[in-house]
Amino acid sequence: MHIVGWSKIVKSKEEGGLGLQEARAKNIALLSKLNLRMYQEQDALWAKVILKKYFPTSRARLRDPEKLPSSPNWKAISLGLPIFKRGIVWGIGNGLDVNVWMTNWVNGGSLRAMIEGPLRQEEQNLRVADLRCGHEWKWELISFDFPKFIKDRIKATPIQLYGNGRDNLMWKYSKDGEFTTNSAYRLANQGEDPVNQFHGLWIWKLDILPRITNFLWLCLHGSIPMKDELAARGINCDKVCPMCKSQDESIVHLLQDCVVARELWRKLFLPHMSIPMLVVFENSIPNPTLDKICIGQAKVYYYCVSKVKRLTSKIAIPIRWSKPFPGWHKLNTDGASFGNPGKAGGGGLIKNSEGS
Ligand SMILES: [Zn+2]
Repeated sequence: MHIVGWSKIVKSKEEGGLGLQEARAKNIALLSKLNLRMYQEQDALWAKVILKKYFPTSRARLRDPEKLPSSPNWKAISLGLPIFKRGIVWGIGNGLDVNVWMTNWVNGGSLRAMIEGPLRQEEQNLRVADLRCGHEWKWELISFDFPKFIKDRIKATPIQLYGNGRDNLMWKYSKDGEFTTNSAYRLANQGEDPVNQFHGLWIWKLDILPRITNFLWLCLHGSIPMKDELAARGINCDKVCPMCKSQDESIVHLLQDCVVARELWRKLFLPHMSIPMLVVFENSIPNPTLDKICIGQAKVYYYCVSKVKRLTSKIAIPIRWSKPFPGWHKLNTDGASFGNPGKAGGGGLIKNSEGS
């Protein structure tokens, strides 16, 4: 019987899965990388041949170019294209290569997708270089008023002031803008189901036997074949706990609430227990007749619980401001973001050598 669904297992550990990678999504991630290579190596013979044969304007104008006969290589590249398009963003240099409407260069996707209605002929070919003048934007080139949120996004788009000045293709799901297959895989593996935050990430940090980690992972997914779970899955069985015969057998009941479990925990008294679930413990002496292996296993559990606390403890390191040389000013900056992409903030403080 499959207790945990395959779609759950192939999720990342942050999303509650086991981090196994599904072959189909992995393949699409690698094919999206092929699209990136084709862009970066567009002067190479292989890219020239493919683009000349399958990407001429005459072909693109046809009603459904994807249905025309093509080589397996082109089909593979087309398969990776949607993920490639979702993952890339243009870093603006001189803005000569970036179309204002169709290219993904502001946060949130292409501007064409954010607005409705037709565009004028001369507006359609507008490049970012045309729209920008020094540090200002020439809004008058657009025949209508941009909504405020679009203007804000454009103003918030970073422009390279140094470097070779060329526009760069970047991967928005990595911190350094470089393509990573793992992030492309996550993108390709995102299903329709909303991503729920998994609260059991701590179990992977425990220094314990893998089978105990596995057991905790199953518990957190409610996937131990308890009687209430089996009955919910349509198996005809008696749901009542066979030990106390008073309540249904569920994970919480069996491990915590059942009178037999409570009695076991009470007899298993161990020192230094502080987690709230263990209010059932009393200051009693362990039953000397209790099986030693059982106590040992429980010790492993408490060892790992206390280990988590040690892992999450943070050490504060005090830092202090130091004065710049006389006649100099110092600018200190800092910023933080809540996720990537996500809400972000930043700030700075300029002080002279007197600290004012
Ligand atoms: Zn019971």
